[in-house]
Amino acid sequence: MFSNIRIVLVGTTHPGNIGGVARAMKNMGLARLYLVKPKIFPCADATLRAAGADDILCSAVLCDSVKEAIAECGVVVGTSARSRSISWSVTAPRECARMISGKPDSTEVAIVFGRENSGLTNAELDLCGYWLTIPCNPDFSSLNLAAAVQVVGYELLVTLTDRSDRHPTDLTPLASSAQIESFYGHLNEVIAAVGFIHPDKSRSVMRRIRRLFNRAHLEIQELDLLRGILSAIQKAAKLSR
Ligand code: SAH
Repeated sequence: MFSNIRIVLVGTTHPGNIGGVARAMKNMGLARLYLVKPKIFPCADATLRAAGADDILCSAVLCDSVKEAIAECGVVVGTSARSRSISWSVTAPRECARMISGKPDSTEVAIVFGRENSGLTNAELDLCGYWLTIPCNPDFSSLNLAAAVQVVGYELLVTLTDRSDRHPTDLTPLASSAQIESFYGHLNEVIAAVGFIHPDKSRSVMRRIRRLFNRAHLEIQELDLLRGILSAIQKAAKLSR
């Protein structure tokens, strides 16, 4: 039903959970599953737990990295049981579903779920423009992976099938994750070349810059403008590309 939305599972340890996720997805009208380095897949346990949603397992896309799994996506939502220090971009599932409902139907959307024991790494969360936390008992906030997908999928189903609640206000195409990554690479190169950062010590500055631009949810035209500025700086400072 929601062909522009993909569920990305990162480093899943238990194949049974992958099956449970496939079942939850099919129940909620989601069909596109991306698996980043699953520990064991395919596996009979996964098929068993999928309970009839094995078509989703058969069409699952295997990837080597989160970057690869989300490359074409204009909206990337990272999920985490832990509330993060920066609260501006953390949404609850309902709010997140409304945000997605406001984007053009052609927007590729990724919702990224982490490892059973350790969740997503900070570097993986840095690739996401939005972070989602399911409100829970604060003393016991970590849901089973399939249960987390179920809750998010349910809110998407309810919001996206209720056309009267749609607010497709942001109709300009968003830059994809791959385009934004390429911009960060270009920016890193320029600020290192002009001496703003030392190439070996750029990580913390780049993290802050990422957060700043991720918060802006850049459109393609805005990204082109920024790339143009970087190229002009390179030309004026006679820096090669
Ligand atoms: N111990 C891990 C929890 C992993 S649970 C941690 O501290 O992050 C496996 C995955 O399920 C998480 O990475 C996240 O994608 C999802 N998940 C579990 N509980 C969640 C919650 N309350 N809100 C959002 N996602 C949750």
